[in-house]
Amino acid sequence: MTVFFIGAGPGDPDLITVKGAKLVETCPVVLYTGSLVPKAVIERARVDALVLNSADMDLDAITQVYLEAKQQGKDVARVQTGDLSIYSSLAEQVRRLDALEIDWQVVPGVSSFQASAAALGQELTLPEQCQTIILSRMSGRTPVPEKENLKSLAQHEATLCLFLSATLIRKVVRELSEVYPLSWPVVVVEKASHPEQRIIRGTLADIADKMHQAKIRSTAMIIVSKVLAIDDFVDSKLYDPSFSHACRQASIAPLSEEAFDE
Ligand code: SAH
Repeated sequence: MTVFFIGAGPGDPDLITVKGAKLVETCPVVLYTGSLVPKAVIERARVDALVLNSADMDLDAITQVYLEAKQQGKDVARVQTGDLSIYSSLAEQVRRLDALEIDWQVVPGVSSFQASAAALGQELTLPEQCQTIILSRMSGRTPVPEKENLKSLAQHEATLCLFLSATLIRKVVRELSEVYPLSWPVVVVEKASHPEQRIIRGTLADIADKMHQAKIRSTAMIIVSKVLAIDDFVDSKLYDPSFSHACRQASIAPLSEEAFDE
């Protein structure tokens, strides 16, 4: 018996992996995290499957579902939004499973920061301009360690993707304005990949008012990055004819180490 933690993706039911979908279709128990998991994903469950919403359950109640499934020898599809590596409470669940000697596995999903970038049609890294993405959040009920405070993260000028922070946008702007000029670009993607997806583009100067006017308070990704406003950048080395990589021999230059990097 195994508990499969499955990333359901950001909202579009087609954005679950084939592996995740097959498990939802075959597991006799399906436990999902409420309304953010697409209905169409849950509807893939077997007609005789026990399908439970964990939105109103605490960790003990969730653990009890796993325990009863183990006693009955039934696999569980534990379906959660986005990908399990980010703000998913995976760690505390598997700690309980390990204590109960229940096997578990993780099936990755498309995270909402990736779906937001796709909605924008935006690469979050650009050659020679930005090669790092920071995934973070403002402190809320869950505090962020002081060493990870937004001002210090902003010093890198990496692309910032902020989860769980839509209601705290004024605080985000206040902290970032101490590091960046007010013209620094910010984009908010609400409900990326859902039919009701919205994109609000702005700068540190006006994004908070724009979000307020649009009444965006949840399920939104805040992306802060200079790459959002750069259209003059060099080509990557990936398709440079003077470089090779493992699958493509250079026609001009000999193999270089950097080519293998790409
Ligand atoms: N594990 C999830 C994140 C869960 S935390 C993932 O990988 O995406 C919940 C936060 O994710 C929300 O507050 C919001 O910031 C973001 N989020 C989830 N779904 C989203 C979507 N469809 N569009 C934009 N942001 C989303």
